[in-house]
Amino acid sequence: MSRPGSPGSQPGPERTLPAPATGGVPADVGTAFAVPASPEQALAELHAGNRRFVTGAPRHPNQDAGHRAAVADGQHPFAVIVGCSDSRLAAEIIFDRGLGDLFVVRTAGHTIGPEVLGSVEYAVTVLGTPLVVVLGHDSCGAVQAARTADATGTPPVGHLCAVVDAVVPSLRRAAAEGVDDIDGIVDIHIAHTVEAMLGRSAVLAAEVAAGRCGVVGMSYRLTAGEVRTVAEVPARTADAPEAAASAALA
Ligand SMILES: [Zn+2]
Repeated sequence: MSRPGSPGSQPGPERTLPAPATGGVPADVGTAFAVPASPEQALAELHAGNRRFVTGAPRHPNQDAGHRAAVADGQHPFAVIVGCSDSRLAAEIIFDRGLGDLFVVRTAGHTIGPEVLGSVEYAVTVLGTPLVVVLGHDSCGAVQAARTADATGTPPVGHLCAVVDAVVPSLRRAAAEGVDDIDGIVDIHIAHTVEAMLGRSAVLAAEVAAGRCGVVGMSYRLTAGEVRTVAEVPARTADAPEAAASAALA
């Protein structure tokens, strides 16, 4: 995956932010944080942070007063996280990042509507963010609620219907593939969300096709705290022009 430039922002290599001058827990003391400029760099940074979190050695980078001041005049988040609203899925914590690093959009079951898609498009095109991650998790209550409503034929009350309706296509796909366990269904729902996002957002699809952005689906394990890739649509590169279009989803 390559990243020739950032629409709406400064093109070129990694941007750097000044090292924090003061603060309570300055994890990156003495070093400037090089903001990942490519989908690969952004993904590597997320995995590195998740490893720190999983092993109980978080550094809490970019959470000090110095960095807060440094990013007050502008943001260059290196990843968009479209995650489930589950209270145990706080993106900055599980990826061990701080202020200005992640552009986070969360809904129950990471369901996507116009406001979600518009937020993703803003980050990718205006802020130049090179990676979009759909983040689900095991034992997802939204997926379970949809499964129960579908099995009993009893729709939930109020706007929760919209969440259930958005998950039902994933239930159908799971049934067609013979997947019956909740975590297997979650994986399918994450992959379906990646596909749906690209199918419904011509803007995002164009950014992927142009090689400026990649899209990844990840599943998080509540107990272990680790993320696992379940779907990936790499940015299209000049020497692999069909990469995005032909990417197989889990
Ligand atoms: Zn959930």
